Amino acid sequence: MSDRVAIVTGGARGIGAATARKLAEDGMAVAVVDLDEGSCAETVKAIEAAGGKAIAVGADVSKAEQVTAAVERVAAELGPPTVLVNNAGVLRDNLLFKMTDDDWETVMAVHLRGAFLFSRAVQKHMVDAGFGRIVSMSSTSALGNRGQANYATAKAGLQGLTKTLAIELGKFGVTANAVAPGFIMTDMTQSTAKRVGVDWDAFVKNAVSQIPVGRGGRPEDVANTVSFLVSEGAGFVSGQVIYVAGGPRA
Ligand code: NAD
Repeated sequence: MSDRVAIVTGGARGIGAATARKLAEDGMAVAVVDLDEGSCAETVKAIEAAGGKAIAVGADVSKAEQVTAAVERVAAELGPPTVLVNNAGVLRDNLLFKMTDDDWETVMAVHLRGAFLFSRAVQKHMVDAGFGRIVSMSSTSALGNRGQANYATAKAGLQGLTKTLAIELGKFGVTANAVAPGFIMTDMTQSTAKRVGVDWDAFVKNAVSQIPVGRGGRPEDVANTVSFLVSEGAGFVSGQVIYVAGGPRA
């Protein structure tokens, strides 16, 4: 994969950062995209320190003009992007009766419009290359989760987007798959623990008690799965959702 260029959104930290590092280790040049270019510095530095190539790109995935500019910059500085990981995400959890219009719109904009805009912007490069890999970050919450009407809808929506991209782009050598993580220990889950007022260790212990493999998920668990799906050898795997949850379901 040494001549491949990958874009990882939400790459400043957590699952996105681990994925960016892993794809760089696999030999790809990686564009680390996040809201603020400065926040990507740590991921870029880690990749360079390991001998890889990366650039930091600031963009809000929900804003069309910023997405177009980001993809143009990546193509100019690294070469045509043929691997895309739609990973950027936010939570605005609330029970339905308390969920605001803004809670709903924000989650749809980042997860769904973000993945749509980036996929649309990179597909031309993939089609021109006759090769492409799109992986979008779904979640076990797509199966339904209390307090997450917005997030569950967006994560289920990403599965529909993925299957449709797989059908439309397959003949151009482009695959599209979704990874649906369960409980992964990141800033996102730490902020959930804080919001519900549960000590982090107790929060992890409770989550782990329901996970068949008996441990919490790490960003690297997800990154390793993405690494497989974007590899040359995964070209006959498309339109799939792989649950990375330490067991068969949430
Ligand atoms: P995180 O909050 O640690 O990281 C998310 C990153 O996305 C942050 O760096 C943030 O700045 C960035 N981001 C947010 N909005 C953005 C925007 N509009 N434009 C660009 N970047 C933006 O979260 P994480 O736990 O690493 O989660 C990564 C992805 O995995 C998310 O899509 C999340 O929904 C999904 N996921 C996480 C878990 C989990 O347990 N942590 C489980 C299932 C799915």
